[in-house]
Amino acid sequence: MQELTHYIDGTHTKGTSGRFADVMNPATGEVQAKVPLASTDEINAAVEIAAKAQPAWAAVNPQRRARVMMKFVALLNRDMDKLAEALSREHGKTLPDAAGDVQRGLEVVEYCIGAPHLLKGEYTDSAGPGIDMYSMRQALGVTAGITPFNFPAMIPMWMFAPAIACGNAFILKPSERDPSVPLMLAELMEEAGLPKGILQVVNGDKEAVDAILHNDVIQSIGFVGSTPIAEYIYATGCANGKRVQCFGGAKNHMIVMPDADMDQAADALVGAGYGAAGERCMAISVAVPVGDETADRLIEALVPRIEKLKVGPYTAGNDVDYGPVVTAAAKANIERLVQTGIDQGAELVVDGRDFKLQGYEEGYFVGPHLFDRATPDMDIYKHEIFGPVLTTVRAQTYEEAIGLAMDHEYGNGTAIFTRDGDTARDFANRINIGMVGINVPIPVPLAYHTFGGWKKSVFGDLNQHGPDAFKFYTRTKTVTARWPSGIKEGGEFSIPVME
Ligand code: NAD
Repeated sequence: MQELTHYIDGTHTKGTSGRFADVMNPATGEVQAKVPLASTDEINAAVEIAAKAQPAWAAVNPQRRARVMMKFVALLNRDMDKLAEALSREHGKTLPDAAGDVQRGLEVVEYCIGAPHLLKGEYTDSAGPGIDMYSMRQALGVTAGITPFNFPAMIPMWMFAPAIACGNAFILKPSERDPSVPLMLAELMEEAGLPKGILQVVNGDKEAVDAILHNDVIQSIGFVGSTPIAEYIYATGCANGKRVQCFGGAKNHMIVMPDADMDQAADALVGAGYGAAGERCMAISVAVPVGDETADRLIEALVPRIEKLKVGPYTAGNDVDYGPVVTAAAKANIERLVQTGIDQGAELVVDGRDFKLQGYEEGYFVGPHLFDRATPDMDIYKHEIFGPVLTTVRAQTYEEAIGLAMDHEYGNGTAIFTRDGDTARDFANRINIGMVGINVPIPVPLAYHTFGGWKKSVFGDLNQHGPDAFKFYTRTKTVTARWPSGIKEGGEFSIPVME
């Protein structure tokens, strides 16, 4: 049995806590490796190493730091197939989707090559008589990130690339479900020229997370995962005086107006609802057709598309639309929620419950499900299912449709499909959700914009990547300077005002 490691001070380091978690192959249900779960002492030791290494890294000029990112991009491209394979093996997503996971992280690394420009301060010459004023952005010190299973390449890179480009050291605590790719990324960063100790991967569970939350040296924590854990980490991290940003769960609605191109809407829904087995925080999990006639046409367009979906292991290559879900527990939770949908009166139009894949009976495959005529009081509508289950809630008017999305507790992403510019514009302006698609089902912003939801999908003030990341990973210091020739008038006792 393969025993995975931590990556500390530039070395693969065995765990010493004696605690391990199983890393499964979701396609077969077999344990394929054991990952060590760090103790508080192991986290604290890594933080000490990071704290020693960080000042020298912060003193490296930003252009040289950016060159590490340039080289890292080249190495990611060189190893793309290897990374995608390792990712698929532990996560279960298809190979093209796994390569996309790496690619969307790589794009943020590319953005971070612009760090020298993004870190420039501001300067006011002669802010007062003989007085100049300037601000600079300085690294925080040791920073940390806690990441989810569903994007084991992209989300770690969204955090560590800007953190490190800004001159910080970064401790990554990846998901214990798929830790291999994060370890590979740390190795590649070092091959790209990053000094030892600046990026360390410490595997673990709640004990490691709590050690991060209570370590006084760690200045900031980034978290992506489910909302209850996001709330816990935000509250505890803030109470301990850290800068914290947490991104939580989602229930993304796609509104389909009567004038939408129904083929385009159905294609979009199938990709956005079932891609990656629905295990995306930007997956569309609720379709809201406006009017019964629209709903009937939409269901009619969806059913044959869903019935044609190919579900299988990543080893089947391009011949698969989506793979297994991540664990037996995730599968059981999806099945439980589907049963509540039936019990509470939603109409199960496509029933994936009997799905079986020959030769992979022990894998965590879930067939595609489609519910129609669900209502807002049902569990399948209220809760994040995180599986290949699309729920349709029929609305009679546009106002009712937008109201549904606005009243839902989550506010990560949403989309509207329409040919009408006025409706689309009104929707984009009024909706209380962070990322909006107009005839685009998964509106994940590109690296130079920022990513983040509203409501219970986010805790904190700044978004991920784009300019916000450079604000999150730096502190502003503002200097007011006057040289001795300017001091002529003795002490001043009231607050200075620059006239
Ligand atoms: P999760 O909350 O179970 O785990 C996330 C991280 O928290 C992992 O590193 C895990 O080890 C740690 N963790 C788990 N339980 C903990 C506990 N009790 N105390 C402290 N730490 C704990 O999430 P997941 O299942 O890995 O990921 C899926 C969730 O992430 C979904 O809810 C999805 O919507 C969300 N997600 C959100 C975004 C976003 O940007 N908003 C992006 C991706 C995923």
